[in-house]
Amino acid sequence: MTKEVLLLKCGEIVLKGLNRKRFEDKLLGNLKRRLKPVGECGVSMRQSVIFVEIPEEVDGDAVMEAVRKVFGIALICRAGVCEKTLEAMQETAERYLADEIAQAHSFKVETKRADKRFPLTSVQTSQHLGGELAEKYPHMKPDMHNPELTIHFEIRDQYAFVHAGPVPGAGGMPVGTNGRAALLLSGGIDSPVAGYMMSKRGLELVGIHFFSYPYTSERAKEKVLELGRRLTAYCGRMPVLVVPFTRIQEEIRDKCHEELFTLIMRRFMMRIAERLALDYECGGLVTGESLGQVASQTMPAMAVTNEVCRTLPVFRPCIGMDKEEIVQIARKIDTFETSILPYEDCCTVFTPKHPNTKPKLYKILEAERALDVDALVDEAVAGTERVILG
Ligand code: ATP
Ligand code: MG
Repeated sequence: MTKEVLLLKCGEIVLKGLNRKRFEDKLLGNLKRRLKPVGECGVSMRQSVIFVEIPEEVDGDAVMEAVRKVFGIALICRAGVCEKTLEAMQETAERYLADEIAQAHSFKVETKRADKRFPLTSVQTSQHLGGELAEKYPHMKPDMHNPELTIHFEIRDQYAFVHAGPVPGAGGMPVGTNGRAALLLSGGIDSPVAGYMMSKRGLELVGIHFFSYPYTSERAKEKVLELGRRLTAYCGRMPVLVVPFTRIQEEIRDKCHEELFTLIMRRFMMRIAERLALDYECGGLVTGESLGQVASQTMPAMAVTNEVCRTLPVFRPCIGMDKEEIVQIARKIDTFETSILPYEDCCTVFTPKHPNTKPKLYKILEAERALDVDALVDEAVAGTERVILG
């Protein structure tokens, strides 16, 4: 068996100058944490490449799968490890890339020599190994311009590495390098995608879910937690705050005009979310809103909702996306199938027949006078339950 490693090349973090060390430390920490459940892999960084050593007893595919979801990594090369001699390099390529070699009709060799003590230059190494392989495997024609297979040799300080080229990593910035934000997480398709997108920009997430028992069931809550769990494959550990919302919804239903129900409810969500976000030292809020998707996501409706957020910016990464584009990401991050399970959401409880798409703020403010807003917010915050995921 060939000893295997992953060579990870960082993305944007290499641009970060003075902050670079902090970024790299975060990335290494995130990787180690994410790999823990998969197996004991050595993780280290040399010459701005991260090495993930895969011990024999650990499943290499599972390691690959986990690493592909860690933000901050641009490229991943899964490589065989060998001694730094031409013989060992050739022999390892033949064994480790046997399937690729059997299938390819054309190939070339590319060598990167990070260890300048190696006696041959990279061009000489490629020529030598390319010649040997071409002779031994005549079905594979040398092709410098458009080869089916490129065999890469990387000669580094301790070992040489052989691989068939990189696959894309998750991109983005390491989770935590841009701070923390609170994600308003519903059971729908959009909010998990919004969480994924902001997490990709280096944000750690705290989930907030509004729960309207008994109008929405335990199963509906379990569904949201399952979405959160799936998201943790990308964003890492995430507390989810489950906020009791029934009392507020009943109060609005009893005391406000039906047409204003959704917007007043959404204003409560944003007020409570901002309070909890500040308690959890978050620097922003994230929602899955998309312009015009529903009545509460028109510009005037969003102005009215946004008006209660006094301190924190609200990020809406799906705002300019079509539903189909959002669905595509939901499928990629494996939340879609859970999102479409047909359990009710608190937004669908008491939905007005004729929602107001051009609300007037003064009307909303007037309607809210019938409610003890501060007391209702306090009560909901006090009743919040915390679940840790990931
Ligand atoms: P989603 O698919 O994310 O549920 P949606 O299209 O159904 O979104 P709305 O129900 O209007 O839209 O919700 C807009 C946003 O408000 C959601 O993306 C989410 O961020 C937040 N939100 C809605 N309901 C809840 C809830 N019960 N708990 C937490 N956040 C919620
Ligand atoms: Mg929803």
